[in-house]
Amino acid sequence: MTVAFIVNSGSSSIKWELLDAESGAKLRGGIVERIGESGNSPDHDAAMQSILGELGDVHPSVIGHRVVHGGSVFTAATLVTDDVIAAIDELSALAPLHNPANLAGIRAALAAFPGVPNVAVFDTAFHQTLAPEAFTYAVDAATAHEHGIRRYGFHGTSYQFVSGVAARLLGRDDAKLIVFHLGNGASVAAINAGRSVETSMGMTPLEGLVMGTRSGDIDPGVLFHLGRAGATLEELDVLLNRRSGLLGLTGMRDMRDVAKAAASGDATAVLALEVYDHRLRHYLGAYLVLLGGADAIVFTAGAGENSPATRAATVRGLESFGIVLDEALNAAPSKDARFVSSADSPVAVLVVPTNEEFEIARQAAALVGLLPDS
Ligand code: ADP
Repeated sequence: MTVAFIVNSGSSSIKWELLDAESGAKLRGGIVERIGESGNSPDHDAAMQSILGELGDVHPSVIGHRVVHGGSVFTAATLVTDDVIAAIDELSALAPLHNPANLAGIRAALAAFPGVPNVAVFDTAFHQTLAPEAFTYAVDAATAHEHGIRRYGFHGTSYQFVSGVAARLLGRDDAKLIVFHLGNGASVAAINAGRSVETSMGMTPLEGLVMGTRSGDIDPGVLFHLGRAGATLEELDVLLNRRSGLLGLTGMRDMRDVAKAAASGDATAVLALEVYDHRLRHYLGAYLVLLGGADAIVFTAGAGENSPATRAATVRGLESFGIVLDEALNAAPSKDARFVSSADSPVAVLVVPTNEEFEIARQAAALVGLLPDS
């Protein structure tokens, strides 16, 4: 057994998990919330000390940290050193809410577990294989260069895990995959033989699909229009990141609530689901062409794993593209990675539960030589 301690540190919380990096078996896990509020852990160091107390006499061999933005610097999991900390800090300009919080977790873990190697695993790293024509925004080149403006993509750890499982299900590792990660944050990636070739999130996680509270794609002209009408930058940020998406359209951020309202005839909820599904199909079509066809369409994360209606809406009527869903398989609840396409569908449709903690544990353990390279 290789015990890995996985840390997902946010600005006011630390989510943690202790697991076996070989099997993925979860040993323990928890979350310390409201860091900094009175009556709770005053800072990340104190939060880490209270987690340390919960771990008792279990001693991790490696610590893996989720880090949101690795910019163009980090293309793979990386051992934490002073230089790496400085680089993550520098990238805070691209992820001002996330990277400083991730660093606070790294610093706390370094202090709490002296001598244990710490590894940073980046949400963006998997997409560093994007070609320049995919990651370049058509804006003034000098401005883009000065400010690091380009597409980076996110959910990379999930895509890496899910594409590996899909390859095993398909029995080949050269497959062309279109993977929909549909959680509160949602994105889609086109993956060819394990390499990301395109993804819907961009410089930040705001671009692309309709999400729980984020707008996804929108004409940037909307921002100028609202700015001229008096909105501040902060208000626009809140509008598109926290008051849009399903929440903005319906007042409900959770797909289950929206689906329930739609089923009872609420026209606003029906429209919201139609907007959500329309965007999924828009990207499906684009990525089928970018890849020159797909071997499998894969669904993961909250709605991808649990909503047969979302999966059906995404691929409905695409039999002429070789995509044939098996309605009964699609409707059957299961926690396993599985086929939901008909046996004779040229393009497979798969559901693969994601496991980002296991992927971080594996990458961290492999990097420090505790596991053979996967
Ligand atoms: P996060 O992005 O926070 O990790 P999850 O991957 O858990 O989130 O996904 C959360 C989303 O999945 C929510 O919008 C939730 O409504 C949706 N979801 C979970 N279960 C279902 C379900 N049975 N039907 C539809 N949507 C679901």
